[in-house]
Amino acid sequence: MAATSVLIVEDEEALATLLEYNLSTEKFDVTVASDGEEALLRIEENTPDVVILDWMLPKVSGIEVCRRLRSKPETRNIPIIMLTARSEEADRVRGLEMGADDYLTKPFSTAELIARVRAVLRRIRPGLVDDSVSVGEIEIDRVSHRVKRSGKEIHLGPTEFRLLDHLIQHPGRVFSREQLLNAVWGSDVFVEVRTVDVHIGRLRKALNKHKQGDPIRTVRSAGYALDAEA
Ligand code: CA
Repeated sequence: MAATSVLIVEDEEALATLLEYNLSTEKFDVTVASDGEEALLRIEENTPDVVILDWMLPKVSGIEVCRRLRSKPETRNIPIIMLTARSEEADRVRGLEMGADDYLTKPFSTAELIARVRAVLRRIRPGLVDDSVSVGEIEIDRVSHRVKRSGKEIHLGPTEFRLLDHLIQHPGRVFSREQLLNAVWGSDVFVEVRTVDVHIGRLRKALNKHKQGDPIRTVRSAGYALDAEA
């Protein structure tokens, strides 16, 4: 199973480095952006599993980054933990109103941050931290690499398994072909975008073998999503 990816958006270099080091030690796949504009670019390239977002940032503020992520279907469900140097209640409320899932007031311990990251993931995407996960009628077991739909075994190739594993972590969320390529094949591999369609086709065929009702939704000119209700 791929490591959980975390994007740290923090302009204080010392703090960013400290967080990067500690999260990497905990086996997270960490990327750092030092301002809001860079953060939005990084997220567009590769959607992280969690964003740790500083409030006060150069170019585009943390609150604006949060607002923009929440306004787009592709990024609406990314868990966001806001970091703030301010302790005023009004700012916390504003951060949460803008769609942050949690916040931490500086200074905080890295152990506390890691605990919050795990808590947010467990709450929002149980699929990221468990060996088995189910969405609707579909269940996958990451240890034995088995997939079932309505209790019936489904046989998938390794690529289809990884595709399903990725989609199942974010039910209902639409992924572009490029995002699926990066997540399943990796960003350093040259694969044609159309390859995604081929493997989605195989995955769909396998999932629908015993049962009608397609759980994979094709969104025209956007991409694919896995829905809980077929
Ligand atoms: Ca800052």
